Amino acid sequence: TPQSAAPRLGARYATELADLVVPWRAAEAAAPEVLLLNESLAAELGLDPAYLRSDEGTRLLVGNHVPEGATPAAQAYAGHQFGGYSPRLGDGRALLLGELPDGRDLHLKGSGRTPFARGGDGLAAVGPMLREYVISEAMHALGVPTTRSLAVTATGDTVYREQPLPGAVLARVAAGHERVGTFQFARALAAHEAEKAAARDGGNSAVPGGAGEDHDDDNADSVLRRLADHAIARHHPDAADSDNPYLELFASVLRRQADLVARWMLLGFIHGVMNTDNTTISGETIDYGPCAFMESYDPATVFSSIDTGGRYAYGNQPGIVQWNLARFAETLIPLIDPDQDEAVRQLTEVLTTFPDEYQRAWAAGMRAKLGLGESTAGDETIRVLIDDLLALLATTRVDFTNFFRHLTAAARGDEAGLRELFAAAPAGTCTEADPGAGEGPVDAWLARWRVHEPSAPEMALANPVYIPRNHLVEEALDAATAGDLGPVGQLLVVVADPYTERPGLERFAEPSPAGAAPHVTYC
Ligand code: AMP
Ligand code: MG
Ligand code: MG
Repeated sequence: TPQSAAPRLGARYATELADLVVPWRAAEAAAPEVLLLNESLAAELGLDPAYLRSDEGTRLLVGNHVPEGATPAAQAYAGHQFGGYSPRLGDGRALLLGELPDGRDLHLKGSGRTPFARGGDGLAAVGPMLREYVISEAMHALGVPTTRSLAVTATGDTVYREQPLPGAVLARVAAGHERVGTFQFARALAAHEAEKAAARDGGNSAVPGGAGEDHDDDNADSVLRRLADHAIARHHPDAADSDNPYLELFASVLRRQADLVARWMLLGFIHGVMNTDNTTISGETIDYGPCAFMESYDPATVFSSIDTGGRYAYGNQPGIVQWNLARFAETLIPLIDPDQDEAVRQLTEVLTTFPDEYQRAWAAGMRAKLGLGESTAGDETIRVLIDDLLALLATTRVDFTNFFRHLTAAARGDEAGLRELFAAAPAGTCTEADPGAGEGPVDAWLARWRVHEPSAPEMALANPVYIPRNHLVEEALDAATAGDLGPVGQLLVVVADPYTERPGLERFAEPSPAGAAPHVTYC
């Protein structure tokens, strides 16, 4: 039953891992006002929307009302950003308010400077916070593990970017906020503690069998092991029963991340800033800064203005996840085996399973998109079919999402949409010259696909009609920044039910207008 008062918030992370947080308070908001409230998520959490909209509830959503017993805290983490290591990142503009009764984190973003803010102002503008709300809720509806958005609350303060903008705080709900970067921070802290201990012990550490001998274990028993135990208990409880729980933690995170990035790839989602501090241990997507959806299929697609080298391009995402997992593995070495070489051997053995895990998830997803989940066709046959399709999509540059949607209709016997799509393709195809001819590479591919008797109902569940398209999101955010929340509300209704085609919503299924400037995102 909904509670008419503030949620009880646990302080498990802040107490079990006190060395990884700085207790902190949110900046005082001048005039907080709830812009968006996720009533269904609130209900799921047992929170009363009427309470959240009340004065106290609104102040809770910007961090100005702290429920009794809660310990708001900024979390410390390190991270590789675009491949370069930063030993100290942390929540510069965010706070963990605490754990909700169901065990998930309640977290705020844009709640003011913290000791991790470095040069930042600690704030967030309304537009980007609404963007995270819309895209994360769309991802959830698309079946992708993700942080959720509970509310966006305007602060009444002005945020200065290129121009003065209205400020806002996003209230986010997540299985947890532990990241690969959190383990990198904890590993460095553990090593530092070991050095201090060794210095305290003086010459003893050099004496065989002396007090210094198992310093590595001592420090591992401190913060790094506590973090790993916390992550196992919260997110990977099955690992606890394994012979080597920490190795199994790694394997479990690897499997979840392989599944996650496969889901992104199947939707054309480009995260845009896959730094190790944005790779979660829970396996949820986090940080919707510069993300965007690919339209024409092209593995080199990049939207982020700062990703000039294309490190986080669409086609690079699986490899980047594996790279981030390698950084995660490095942090676990002291927990795996006292013999470092042996620890590295075991972790490497698990790490090398990533390509297979990823391929398995991707191929299963692709089979579903093609309606071939039940097909007896062998993996190799399907792999070639998929490869040839991707080559066809790359040369024709048709819209990725709409291709699969029209292919779903084609499985029902209606090929008109598909023909139209290729006829209007940005790059010429044989079908463009003569859409009805029944020849050319598209038709040849369709004929090979039909041999396997695709299931249209299966395809309808795997191929969304509506995704949060870049131009629609921007249009809605511009309106919201100017004070009109109507378009954001409408877009949310559309993307919250992505697989059901509805009359009157054609506009939301269209790619960006032909000739539009390439989409660019900023974080
Ligand atoms: P991100 O690239 O969004 O993952 O953020 C990287 C780091 O920058 C994190 O430590 C953030 O907390 C910090 N950060 C981003 N924006 C701000 C801001 N406006 N003020 C303070 N810190 C920020
Ligand atoms: Mg981040
Ligand atoms: Mg960010």
